[in-house]
Amino acid sequence: MPRIKVIGGGLSGCEASLQLADAGLDVDLWEMRPQVTTPAHKTGDLAELVCSNSFKGLGLTSAHGLFKEELRLMGSRLISLAMESRVPAGESLAIDRAMFSAAVEKAIATHPRITLHREEAAGLDPEELTLVASGPLSSDRLTQSLFTLIGSQRLYFFDSIAPVVEYDSLDLEHTFAKNRWEKGTEPDFINCPLDKETYFAFVDALVAADTVEAKPFEKGQLFEGCLPVEEMARRGRETLRYGPMRPIGLRHPVTGKTPFAVIQLRAENRQRTLYNLVGFQTRLKWGTQKQIFSMVPALKDAAYARLGAMHRNTFLNSPQVMEPSLRIRNTRIFCAGQLTGAEGYTEAIGTGMYASSMILAHLRGDEGFTWPEASCLGALTRHLTDPNPDFQPMNFNFGLLPKVETASKKDKKGVQIENCLKALEGFRPFPERVPVMT
Ligand SMILES: Cc1cc2nc3c(=O)[nH]c(=O)nc-3n(C[C@H](O)[C@H](O)[C@H](O)COP(=O)(O)OP(=O)(O)OC[C@H]3O[C@@H](n4cnc5c(N)ncnc54)[C@H](O)[C@@H]3O)c2cc1C
Repeated sequence: MPRIKVIGGGLSGCEASLQLADAGLDVDLWEMRPQVTTPAHKTGDLAELVCSNSFKGLGLTSAHGLFKEELRLMGSRLISLAMESRVPAGESLAIDRAMFSAAVEKAIATHPRITLHREEAAGLDPEELTLVASGPLSSDRLTQSLFTLIGSQRLYFFDSIAPVVEYDSLDLEHTFAKNRWEKGTEPDFINCPLDKETYFAFVDALVAADTVEAKPFEKGQLFEGCLPVEEMARRGRETLRYGPMRPIGLRHPVTGKTPFAVIQLRAENRQRTLYNLVGFQTRLKWGTQKQIFSMVPALKDAAYARLGAMHRNTFLNSPQVMEPSLRIRNTRIFCAGQLTGAEGYTEAIGTGMYASSMILAHLRGDEGFTWPEASCLGALTRHLTDPNPDFQPMNFNFGLLPKVETASKKDKKGVQIENCLKALEGFRPFPERVPVMT
């Protein structure tokens, strides 16, 4: 029977271990806690939730609700254990974290095909069948091994995420498409101009705004080349106008005038359904971000696929490093969880499931195996591995699903949900599953 080494007993590693073992593989699961700990984990428990106890919405009309439904339909072991550990939280799935970890621990400990090693895994052998699921706080020695394997330019330690806005929610009347100095054949950027009065009000609001306090292990991690916008604004009222909001080379195509300042939006995905605010990494509180950005005429009613953030997070430059199967190129090493740039608890469980289905397909020689394009995991993993020069971690959201043409935005989500559920009918990611009675 094939053996696999799984590194990390967090959400992604535990989901993957159970899926792989249920499919008949012998699994060696390595978890370094409690001997070696991380700056955020507090216990030695498997599948510890490092922060909130919420897996977000359950209703099918929310992105996370649809995602969880997909995982449930495809037989996720951890989603099922999470449902059993549920605490009342309205339409959301919130759980008793101790009960959940105990249930995961039991499922792992009693599985005859899983051996749990309470040790740090430090090295990586490109020839050994391995799943790396060591999370955003991977140990230093393992990180060093990843460095050696893929090169230090392709592994990051810190997120500095600019907000990502849904294209459909922009007020296009207050935008113009243009590249700076009209370089290139097609305009890649959408520009959101601000007049003088709006610009200064915007800068003053940034200076006065509340920011999220950095965790002790994140202090001192800001880089001069990648400062939060509010920090740039604090350095002077004109600083942003000479930085990410500089209007030079962006003459308005209708008026012929150069705006006082602009926010540039650059496509975040190939379908151009999502755009990021270029250079707008920020530590502002989420509600405050929405409020301040709504001062920009084009963003007045903007809907955000994700808001800006800056925190400690080890992740790979997945588009450069991995194949669509989440395998590191030219190795037998697959990855899952936050390390791949899939951000969030449900995403960790989902990519654990996805990577295990890909490992099994690899073992049966089915290299053409894919998840349906219209599924949540198909869409999320496409985002992780499609070419993207500005790759940043991302939660699952509707903007990642294939584009559909409908009269209204409301209908659009309905069609995307329908397409997703239809695509999953009859799809069996684990044909070799042999459930084990525990
Ligand atoms: C501080 C912080 C707060 C977060 N809060 C939230 C939140 O509230 N909601 C949300 O949806 N997402 C949150 N996230 C993002 C993400 O969803 C979680 O980090 C999630 O737990 C990631 O799952 P994972 O399986 O990739 O990693 P983890 O759950 O962290 O699991 C990785 C495991 O690998 C182990 N490990 C690391 N290196 C080694 C090694 N060398 N050998 C053996 N074991 C090793 C670790 O001890 C850990 O148990 C947060 C992230 C951070 C850093």
